[in-house]
Amino acid sequence: MSFSASSRSVSLARMAENRFDVLVVGGGITGAGIALDAATRGFSVALVEKRDFASGTSGRSSRLVHGGLRYLEHGEVGLVHECLRERRILLRLAPHLVRPVPMYLLAESASTRAVYRAGLTGYDLLAAGRNIGVHHSVSADGIRAVVPAFGGKRGGFRYFECQTDDARLTVEVARTAHAFGAVVASYAEVTSFLGGAAVEGATITDQFTGERLDLRASVTVNATGVWADQVRALAPGGSKRLRPSKGVHLVFAPGTIEASAAFVIPSAAGDGRSVFLVPWEDRVYAGTTDTPYDGDLDDPPVEQADRDYILAAVARSFPGVTHRDVVAAWAGLRPLLAPAGTGGNEASAGTATEDLSRRHTTVEELPGLFTMTGGKLTTYRAMAEEVVDRVAAVLGSRARSRTRDIAIGLHGSAADAIALARHEAARLGLPPADGERLVLRYGDDWREAIRMIAAEPSLGEPVVDRLPVLKVEVELARSREMAVTDEDVFARRTRLTTRDASLRLPAS
Ligand code: FAD
Repeated sequence: MSFSASSRSVSLARMAENRFDVLVVGGGITGAGIALDAATRGFSVALVEKRDFASGTSGRSSRLVHGGLRYLEHGEVGLVHECLRERRILLRLAPHLVRPVPMYLLAESASTRAVYRAGLTGYDLLAAGRNIGVHHSVSADGIRAVVPAFGGKRGGFRYFECQTDDARLTVEVARTAHAFGAVVASYAEVTSFLGGAAVEGATITDQFTGERLDLRASVTVNATGVWADQVRALAPGGSKRLRPSKGVHLVFAPGTIEASAAFVIPSAAGDGRSVFLVPWEDRVYAGTTDTPYDGDLDDPPVEQADRDYILAAVARSFPGVTHRDVVAAWAGLRPLLAPAGTGGNEASAGTATEDLSRRHTTVEELPGLFTMTGGKLTTYRAMAEEVVDRVAAVLGSRARSRTRDIAIGLHGSAADAIALARHEAARLGLPPADGERLVLRYGDDWREAIRMIAAEPSLGEPVVDRLPVLKVEVELARSREMAVTDEDVFARRTRLTTRDASLRLPAS
């Protein structure tokens, strides 16, 4: 069965008719990863998402698959070790979507320089020689060689992280779960649980028709990120555990900051925080903030204070950059765990969200219901393995995780696929770079894209002038990536509106 907008209703019918080993609630990276791990162990799996895949935090991150250098400050050596290991695994499993990016860490004083050097040495050691490249120091002129507009007088260090497209990675993991037999539906919200003292599945409400269906499952996993407290509250008992924190990113117009590398610069607020600047195709985005949040979880706003905080940091290293250069922005919510025993927002209000751990947790709420929250995009695979080990024990299975060896969207070498796709694009009269771009965004589906353009050449035209997204990508989003609404297509599959919020886009 295809993974398309129209196959969604077929999935919902199958959900009502069958009994499943595992129901996964939440189509962010955590839920998609859990569905993939469980399906590849041979369990029957259903995955439901109340809006679109990655419409929550997983489509609003800093888009980095990183080793977590900053966590060394908090002594979280185990977490850094796990992040570095998972970064390496993802580079192998999804080389088209997870790619190394050089990162420059600016040090403004001799003391910060010494601290960074020690941290980066530890980082290299924890990577146990399997880092993408070891760090080395650079002068301010060395930095200007990659970022000409850099106005700082001091240098820093260069090391490596990886960059991804968070929403595309999430959709690709969900699609891979589907390819292994998981039944997947977006716009399908869990509105209550079935059973009493033990959870036996859930009632799902179709967000378009309002129709309800009962989905029976032996084990349900609540992987709803910042919504986890709300979903848990649908079952008896349980207390608040999350303390959401908001993080904002700003996108700058092409030419504002020319950069072929990412940057970590000090914030201008004297709070000891840092701001990332990351190149994204023809532009750069910067973030993030970290502030406690107790507003609407579905649509966190980008406020003036968020903009000012980021712009102040950027303007210190890139004088002349102002709010007029900002063309798009997004706000995401971190599902941070309140300190043990403080139970959510009010009781833990004294702790800065910056200081809360980025670790994850798995809790068995009731027989038949687990909740997994916290963690990182980077560590989703390991998190999924951990919770599915517990699910397997409940199901009486000894099946082990296979996800360390399951390719995500691209089989074989990325370099070979790119060479072939460049050739095929040129054969159709397109710039070879279009072929390369199709591989880097669509993995194996680059062939389908080329086939569709060969059949209908107008699909090789850009959706909007001067931006590289082709009309064929809109078709792929609908027919092979379960994009249902225009927002799914333009915000999360093609990412057009996260490049420029003012674009006038055709209805898709
Ligand atoms: P979500 O992505 O929020 O998914 C939960 C899903 O559950 C949502 O899609 C929601 O619609 C759905 N849902 C809710 N209620 C229901 C219901 N009743 N029924 C069905 N579905 C429901 N990590 C990194 O590794 N690298 C980074 O660079 C990075 N940067 C970040 C920057 C920011 C600003 C933030 C906020 C986080 C960042 N993170 C990063 C962390 C990472 O993004 C998150 O840990 C991760 O995306 C959380 O994924 P999730 O699946 O748990 O939650």
